[in-house]
Amino acid sequence: MEVTVIGAGLAGCEAAYRIAACGHTVRLIDCKPDTASPAHRSGNFAELVCSNSLKSDEPTTASGLLKRELRALGCFLLREAEAARVPAGGALAVDREVFSHRITQIIRSHPGIEIVGETAQDWNVNELTVIATGPLTVGKLADVLQSRIGGALHFYDAAAPVVDAMSIERAHCFAASRYDKGDSDYLNCPMDKDTYLAFVSELVSAERAQQHAFDRREIFEGCMPIEIMAERGVDTMRFGPLRPVGFVDPHTGKRPYAVVQLRAENNERTMYNLVGFQTNLKFGEQRRVFGMIPALAHAEFLRYGVMHRNTYIDSPRVLDVYSRLRDFPNTFIAGQLSGVEGYVESIASGLVCGINAVRILEGKPPVTLPDTTVIGSLYRYITTAQADFQPMNANFGVLPPHEEHIRDKTKRKERYCERSLSDLYEFQKANDLV
Ligand SMILES: Cc1cc2nc3c(=O)[nH]c(=O)nc-3n(C[C@H](O)[C@H](O)[C@H](O)COP(=O)(O)OP(=O)(O)OC[C@H]3O[C@@H](n4cnc5c(N)ncnc54)[C@H](O)[C@@H]3O)c2cc1C
Repeated sequence: MEVTVIGAGLAGCEAAYRIAACGHTVRLIDCKPDTASPAHRSGNFAELVCSNSLKSDEPTTASGLLKRELRALGCFLLREAEAARVPAGGALAVDREVFSHRITQIIRSHPGIEIVGETAQDWNVNELTVIATGPLTVGKLADVLQSRIGGALHFYDAAAPVVDAMSIERAHCFAASRYDKGDSDYLNCPMDKDTYLAFVSELVSAERAQQHAFDRREIFEGCMPIEIMAERGVDTMRFGPLRPVGFVDPHTGKRPYAVVQLRAENNERTMYNLVGFQTNLKFGEQRRVFGMIPALAHAEFLRYGVMHRNTYIDSPRVLDVYSRLRDFPNTFIAGQLSGVEGYVESIASGLVCGINAVRILEGKPPVTLPDTTVIGSLYRYITTAQADFQPMNANFGVLPPHEEHIRDKTKRKERYCERSLSDLYEFQKANDLV
């Protein structure tokens, strides 16, 4: 076999199919049906472990644009999702049984794919391999991966929300560093006493997401959910991430009662995260409660805070833009394990690995998609050096901004879509991928 793919989930099936569809042979290993992660229930491949929605299909959303890019690239799983589609307004939702069953049938009957039902514990670094064992990788494989990449593997997500820079109310925040030391790298969002007290009261009573038993773990002080910190006492946050000392609000000339700090997520400063706001609140509650911070009253959330079990590599340190381990260039990492977040993002990553594995087999250099596409910019994001890396989903914040300022939000998003698809088409023509 020319390529081994480990994991027949969303990313693994997409990668295996692409390689086999291009006339190459694949060994596809999955621990199902004998062994399964705590979230997987069926014996089928490409199982959707939670929601049956693949999110929006509207062109003015990043998720919709990602789907258009995948369609242009001939994505197998998206084609099957359309065949299994159920009505869901502007979203692409599927009958999960039909979706997985169709994919399993096609993969199992493909003459170029050999299926092996076992738990992989290791892989041969000298052979082309795609590792796509997902956020709940089973067995010792994660430990072997961790030791090969020098410990750069995480087993838990504790992410703070990220908001679109354009949606932050600049009249209600100021750029400064504490005691004016260093660069003004943070945007500081002041709160007066009444606003802070109302915020604490809503935060402690807000609805939290249910955690699976396998998601629970001890709370470490360094990544304590903000709602748990607020429960410890009304002033606990003011002595922690919201401490106002060292700041003077230029709008009032006084020290604020509390300060929420926003830190840029990328060099272009199109996205900001809420420092210290890792949270387990439901997404709607994050919008409602964090919207009480005056600077975030109209914030557009690009990524919500999450706290759950998630195995993923520290991709900025160990992954190249072609989705290979820098120290082991025969090894591709696909799907959630590579630091992307979400069903369709995982499929996209499987497709990138499949395309590049084929190119290497055919003696061509691997490729990276244009930065102006959601797929290309997601790869740029996850492979760019940054402290405290957390997985990322598709959003417009990862795309390079337009050269001219487009005030109208819908027009801005339409222009992202046009730019992406036209650059993708040129890229496909230049690289024989049409
Ligand atoms: C509980 C949970 C709920 C989620 N809900 C959503 C959601 O609603 N929407 C969303 O967009 N994203 C969701 N995600 C995030 C992510 O999109 C999914 O986990 C997605 O399935 C990831 O795709 P993947 O291909 O990387 O991994 P998976 O789809 O999990 O596929 C991994 C495959 O590898 C196999 N495997 C694992 N270990 C081994 C091994 N050692 N040897 C051989 N085979 C192995 C597994 O059996 C599985 O078939 C959720 C994640 C979790 C953990």
